[in-house]
Amino acid sequence: MTSQSVLQDLAGLLATGGIKVVDLTRTLEPDTPILQLPPEMGWGESWPFSMEEISHYDDRGPAWYWNNIKCGEHTGTHFDAPIHWVTGQDHENHATDTLPTGNFVAPAFVIDAVAEAAANPDFLMTVDFIKAWEEKHGQITPGSWVLYRTDWSKKTDNDEYLNIKEDGGHTPGWDPDTVRFLAEERNVIGVGVETVGTDAGIAPTQDPMFPCHNLMHGANKCGLASLCNLDQLPPTGALLIAPPLKIKNGSGSPTRVLALVAN
Ligand code: MN
Repeated sequence: MTSQSVLQDLAGLLATGGIKVVDLTRTLEPDTPILQLPPEMGWGESWPFSMEEISHYDDRGPAWYWNNIKCGEHTGTHFDAPIHWVTGQDHENHATDTLPTGNFVAPAFVIDAVAEAAANPDFLMTVDFIKAWEEKHGQITPGSWVLYRTDWSKKTDNDEYLNIKEDGGHTPGWDPDTVRFLAEERNVIGVGVETVGTDAGIAPTQDPMFPCHNLMHGANKCGLASLCNLDQLPPTGALLIAPPLKIKNGSGSPTRVLALVAN
């Protein structure tokens, strides 16, 4: 089997529906929830998505419709590049325009923690949890994405989705040792989550603070946040396609994330 014939077979299966393309992307709109940082810390704020019409087949442009758009790099379904975090600042090729393109097309391992996240919004995935998953489904291979399925994206109410209480956010995330394990012992490209950011809601209080950002980007790994439709993916065997916009020295960008899945 040559590479050429594999591509031809792939194209044929895409055309006949033997392989389906699953959209893991939220619709980007003004209501799209964005990460809220504790206001008392005085940290900067990310712009929500906004759109302003330039013309709509009218006197501003008789034959064309288009808009100006504005948002933070980390808005909606989006990509986190290693340069996003202070720990990742010294890597080479660590920004949206310089990351190796091979990072954008890679196998996905989908770990189901739906029951755990439903029982405890502060659930932190442990190394043992992943090892138990690997016992059933096989070891996570180097150069792949690990996707953290919680069904959190099914919360259509933004308040429930962000789940911010007086003491901060409460959404599932990672034990710091789990992030080290995935980065160092499994050598993943990165991790993707259904929540607003790759870290738990309680991440400002973890050690290190925001462990997924700190340790993943410190290891030159990437992130994907605000994914949806992970319930349409098999535990193994899907191929993820997630190229960020090629923003010069960008820390991330809204991204159309797709998965190829055998039908
Ligand atoms: Mn981000």
